[in-house]
Amino acid sequence: MSGSVRRTTVCIAGGGPAGLMLGLLLARSGIEVTVLEKHEDFFRDFRGDTVHPSTLNLIDALGLRARFEAIDHVPLQRLDVVVNGIRIHAIDFSTLPAPNRLVTLMPQWDLLELLAAEASTLPAFRLEMGAEVADVVRRDGRVTGVRLTDGAVVEADLVVACDGRASTVREAAGLVPRARGVPTDVAWFRMPRPAAPMPDTLGWIGAEGLVVTIPRPGYLQCGLLIPKGSFDAVRAGGIEAFRQRIARAVPRCADVVGDIASLDDVKLLSVQIDRLPRWWTPGLLCIGDAAHAMSPVFGVGINYAVQDAVAAARLLAPALRRTEPGPVGAGVVDAGAVDVACAAVQRRRDRPTGAMQAVQRAVHARIASGALSDLIANPPTRRQRLFLRAVLPRVKPLVARLVGYGFRPERLDP
Ligand SMILES: Cc1cc2nc3c(=O)[nH]c(=O)nc-3n(C[C@H](O)[C@H](O)[C@H](O)COP(=O)(O)OP(=O)(O)OC[C@H]3O[C@@H](n4cnc5c(N)ncnc54)[C@H](O)[C@@H]3O)c2cc1C
Repeated sequence: MSGSVRRTTVCIAGGGPAGLMLGLLLARSGIEVTVLEKHEDFFRDFRGDTVHPSTLNLIDALGLRARFEAIDHVPLQRLDVVVNGIRIHAIDFSTLPAPNRLVTLMPQWDLLELLAAEASTLPAFRLEMGAEVADVVRRDGRVTGVRLTDGAVVEADLVVACDGRASTVREAAGLVPRARGVPTDVAWFRMPRPAAPMPDTLGWIGAEGLVVTIPRPGYLQCGLLIPKGSFDAVRAGGIEAFRQRIARAVPRCADVVGDIASLDDVKLLSVQIDRLPRWWTPGLLCIGDAAHAMSPVFGVGINYAVQDAVAAARLLAPALRRTEPGPVGAGVVDAGAVDVACAAVQRRRDRPTGAMQAVQRAVHARIASGALSDLIANPPTRRQRLFLRAVLPRVKPLVARLVGYGFRPERLDP
C-alpha cells in the first residue's frame, strides 16, 4: 500500500462512535466515505458502555433495533447510586417520552460492530481497519487528504477527525484544544459479579470516594475515581490494600474483590475535559472527542460523539452533493460550501457540549472536595430526609432528561 494514492469524497479518521456513525449516515445519503481505523478490531476495554435514549432513538430510526436487541446488553430504567450505604434511585428514565425510557449498557465494541456491519452493506461506504493516520496532506493551505503510517495517501474533499481525544489529525492540522482542568483520574478494573444477586448499581459514594460498577455480560467493569496523579501511590499500596478499599466502598462485592488478581489488572485512565475554540479549518472538521474530550461523568461521551455525527451528516450532506463543473466535465464538490457547513456544525454543537462539560466539571469539583459523600449522611438528617422525599422526586425528571438526551439532542431529519 506504501506510496499509493486513493480518492474519496469524505475521509474519516477513526472508527469510534463518532466516525462510524458519521460514515454510516453519509453513506446512506449516497456520499462516498472512507473510514480509517488504526486498530485491527474494535475490541478494546477502555471505552464507555452506555447507550442513551437519544442514541436508542437513532438506532430505531435507522431500522437497527432488532439487531441491537439480539446483542447481549443490560437495559436499565433507572440508575442507582449508594451514598454512605443508602440506596438512591438517582436517575429514573421512566419519566422520558416513549418508547426509549431506559439506558442500555452494551460493550462498546458490540455497538461499533453493529454500526460497521450495517454501513458495510452500503456501496458508498468503505472501512479500512489497521489504517493509522499519521499526518494531513495540504494543498494551497487547504487540507486535501491524509497520509497513513505506511505512506499511503487518501485524498478527499473533506477530512473529518474522529480519532478521539489525543487526535493525531487535529494536531497535524494545528488545531489546539483548550483544556479545562479535571482533578480526577480513574483506576479501571473488572470483578466477577458477587454470588448474592445485587441490584444494578452505577455508583458507590462514601469515605473511600466514588466507585463505578458497570454491569457487563458476566462481570462488572469498575472504575475507582482517584485524585489526578495519585495512581502511583495506589500501586505502591499493593494489591491487598486495593482489594480492601474496594470491599469497603462496595460491601456487596466483598466476596469477589479477591478475584482482582494483581495491580497489573488495574489500569490508569486519565480523565480529561477540553474543547477546540475552532472545530474546523479549510478541508477539515473535528467532531466527537477530537473536538471536545468528555469526562466519564454521566457516561455521555458516546452520546455526544454520536449527536455530533448526526448534526454533521445533516449539515454536510447538502454541501457535499453540491457540484461545480470540474476540469474533465464531472462535477466537483464546492469547497467553499463545505467550509460553511463545517462552521455550521460547530455553531450547532459547541454550546450544548460546553454546557455539559460545565456540569461535568461541577461534579468533579464536588468529588475532589469530598462534598459528594456529604450529600446524605447515614442515617440522613431531617433536612436530608426532606430533600430525598420532597426535592429529589421533582428534580429527577430533569436529571433523566439531561443524562438521557443531553442539551440539544439531534434528529436525523429535523
Ligand atoms: C475512563 C472513561 C470512561 C468513560 N466511560 C464512558 C461511558 O460509560 N459512557 C460514555 O458515553 N462515555 C464514556 N467515556 C467517554 C467516551 O469514551 C468518549 O467520549 C467517546 O468514546 C468519544 O467517541 P469518539 O468516537 O469521538 O472517540 P473514540 O471513542 O476515542 O474513538 C476514536 C477512534 O479513533 C481511532 N484512532 C485514534 N487515532 C487514530 C489514527 N491516528 N488513525 C486512525 N484511527 C485512529 C481509535 O482507535 C478509536 O477507535 C469515558 C471516558 C473515559 C476516559
